[in-house]
Amino acid sequence: MRKFFILIPLFTLYTTTKAQTTISRDPQIEKMVSEVSKDSLESYIKKMVSFGTRSTLSIQTDPKRGIGAARNWVLSRYNEFAKESGGRLTAFIDTVTLQPDGRRIDNPTLLGNVVATLKGTDTNDDRIFIISGHLDNMRSNVMDGSGDAPGANDDASGVAAVMECARIMSKRSFPATIIFVAVSGEEQGLLGANYMSGKAKKQNRNIEAVLNNDIMGSNNSNETNVINNTKIRVFSESFSVQDTGKAALTIRSLGLENDGKARQLARYVKETRERYVDNLEVVMVYRNDRFLRGGDHTPYVQRGYAAVRFTEMNENYYHQHQDVRLENGIQYGDLPEFMDFEYLRKNTCLNLSNLANLAKSPSMPQEVKVDTKKLTNFTNLSWKAPKSGKVKGYFVMMRETTSSTWQKKIFTTEPKMDLPYSKDNYFFAVQSVSEEGNESLPVVPSPAGR
Ligand SMILES: [Zn+2]
Repeated sequence: MRKFFILIPLFTLYTTTKAQTTISRDPQIEKMVSEVSKDSLESYIKKMVSFGTRSTLSIQTDPKRGIGAARNWVLSRYNEFAKESGGRLTAFIDTVTLQPDGRRIDNPTLLGNVVATLKGTDTNDDRIFIISGHLDNMRSNVMDGSGDAPGANDDASGVAAVMECARIMSKRSFPATIIFVAVSGEEQGLLGANYMSGKAKKQNRNIEAVLNNDIMGSNNSNETNVINNTKIRVFSESFSVQDTGKAALTIRSLGLENDGKARQLARYVKETRERYVDNLEVVMVYRNDRFLRGGDHTPYVQRGYAAVRFTEMNENYYHQHQDVRLENGIQYGDLPEFMDFEYLRKNTCLNLSNLANLAKSPSMPQEVKVDTKKLTNFTNLSWKAPKSGKVKGYFVMMRETTSSTWQKKIFTTEPKMDLPYSKDNYFFAVQSVSEEGNESLPVVPSPAGR
């Protein structure tokens, strides 16, 4: 088993309890990751393409063609997976009727997100982790719901990853709840994600992370011959629109513009990948999305949830939002033949390992503080136990202020740590750690007296 030694011996001099630990792969997560199948992903994508079009405006009553048939098929797969879940996986199509909006909806239209929920086993744990991809797609003209639109990469790739995670994870149990969603209405203006995140907000649901997968199964660009199937981008916004007033002042005065929820999630994703998925690099992009494009993570970000977007390293615009056609010797259209299923397998493993590590972890430590009562060249941190889950201990993480990733992780069993490093020169955060070593999302300390 691969071991990850992160602790620097120097720290053992200063931490008060047994400070040495190693980070290893959790065998349960390693096993699940090994079950992700390239063939299974390919078969889901080919099936989704076989519905001809999955435009939100396409026919809903035909058993073989259109978005209605496609979402019924996803539901039927979820229901198959549910049989092996001991009653913990339940699935349904969450529908809402969209009214003409003068933009991308021209007639009253039934929208349906296909939602499978793997209920957490800990009744005290109200955390929810979401993985999403969008089932709908589009032709060159977004209002054309009748012609063919294969949508193999955009975004059957994302939905295939969601379904594969559901297939494998629903056979296991986790303390926290995981939701697997095939969204609709993305191409008409993020309508399905807007509906789902709005409903969650109204119900005050505790969504701790959203992993949105959109265009993540192809490996080349249209401008060059560069093939890249060893890197995936994770897009994260610095802070959400809710960070205004006093919150914005705090971010500004403490220099926390790179420590918002989505960016912490991106950093977590990168670290977990290093532990579980070989030959894949997570490239963090410090912006919410690409130019001229949007994604289903954004309605969550706008409501204050931690949400990120996974997208392949290079994009081929001949294959996105294009009618299938041959023009000047160039094949346009989002066809399965342009997919790299091995790359999609690795990207699915990235999702699965992160979802599993998050859902197995205790909840985040509470009341994390850094003592700023006096001028000192040290750092004194303290916190309280998490609301749910059994902890083995905590990781204190630190990095230089210019570093994009955490540089040290120090383990302790105590709810405090004194460090011989100046709080002025580093950023810190604290994670709860389960018996098996699964870490919660990190909490950045607030300034306070102890
Ligand atoms: Zn898309």
